[in-house]
Amino acid sequence: MSKNCISSQTRPQLAQTLAALGQPAFRAGQIYRWLHQKQVTEFSAMTDQPKALLKTLEEQYYIAAPTIRRRQQSKDGTVKYLFALEDGNCIETVVMRYKYGNTVCLSTQVGCRMGCRFCASTQAGRVRNLEAGEIAAQLYTAQRDIGERISHIVLMGIGEPLDNFDNVMDFLTIISSEEGANIGMRNISLSTCGLVPMIDRLAEKKLQLTLSISLHAPNNAMRSSMMPVNDAYPVEQLIAACRRYQKTTGRRISFEYSMVRGVNDSDATARQLADLIRGMGAHVNLIPINPVDGSPYSATDAENVRRFQQALTRLGVNATVRRRLGSDISAACGQLRRDEAQQPPKEATP
Ligand code: SAH
Repeated sequence: MSKNCISSQTRPQLAQTLAALGQPAFRAGQIYRWLHQKQVTEFSAMTDQPKALLKTLEEQYYIAAPTIRRRQQSKDGTVKYLFALEDGNCIETVVMRYKYGNTVCLSTQVGCRMGCRFCASTQAGRVRNLEAGEIAAQLYTAQRDIGERISHIVLMGIGEPLDNFDNVMDFLTIISSEEGANIGMRNISLSTCGLVPMIDRLAEKKLQLTLSISLHAPNNAMRSSMMPVNDAYPVEQLIAACRRYQKTTGRRISFEYSMVRGVNDSDATARQLADLIRGMGAHVNLIPINPVDGSPYSATDAENVRRFQQALTRLGVNATVRRRLGSDISAACGQLRRDEAQQPPKEATP
């Protein structure tokens, strides 16, 4: 029998697990804190627990604890990890240093099936979803490695978070819990390529996180040429879902806009973008595309990115140019995993 991941269980799920093993209720809290507050990686570290219980848990469960396969540190302090999971699959995690604190960029899937034409993470498709505990353990391992608290999270690593909805929701519950890492929802951003029905499901949860939409283009012809997901959920439907999301949650949305030379960076496109989202109070993050091998795209130069930003601002849309961190270590997501002499992706074996 294959083992289940105990650190993927929310507090109530863990309580059930321990009750089924005939344990008193207080054990659930103790073990939960060992896993998510002290962030131990082995059952034997839970020193106040009965030996017999630890032995039983060990037989049936494992604690998600990725190992560092590669580590790159940029001059600006950015650290990028290639982590190996229990089943041998690899994912990437990045820590960025900002004035307001350390931010970790987490992966939510092994690979991705969204097919965005500019993205390295999707080139070999999706291998499997990450479990809630595997998403959290990226933060725990990075935090231990840098020896500093990580206070902010962006779900912008490998994978599409809303394509792994239930596990990502469990992850958010665990990571924000007071008995765990206790990271406030307002310090968490979730980025999606635009799975409309899932944006509606997320809205119902009324979380205080920041929803980022990878828009990248203001019309269907342009967006579909960059992102196949647009064929399923075209721009009008996506923007309508964003408006519903804002109404339901009271939270403003961010739009990601990766700039590709000659594709989505003209003055006319800036006007079209402004017309599309004006009045939403939304924020646009501009970033020159990070060119990846096998993709036809090259980056808009800095001067034109600036011009595009100024055009948006003049047209009443709040836009900033995202500072590029870690550009000397190919921090664009998916490149490290892909460059790693790819062992053939393994089938899902928890
Ligand atoms: N699947 C989610 C989150 C992961 S990608 C999403 O699509 O939002 C995180 C962000 O990086 C997205 O905005 C994505 O479009 C962007 N991105 C991916 N590859 C890129 C590249 N080569 N250059 C610039 N941005 C890229």
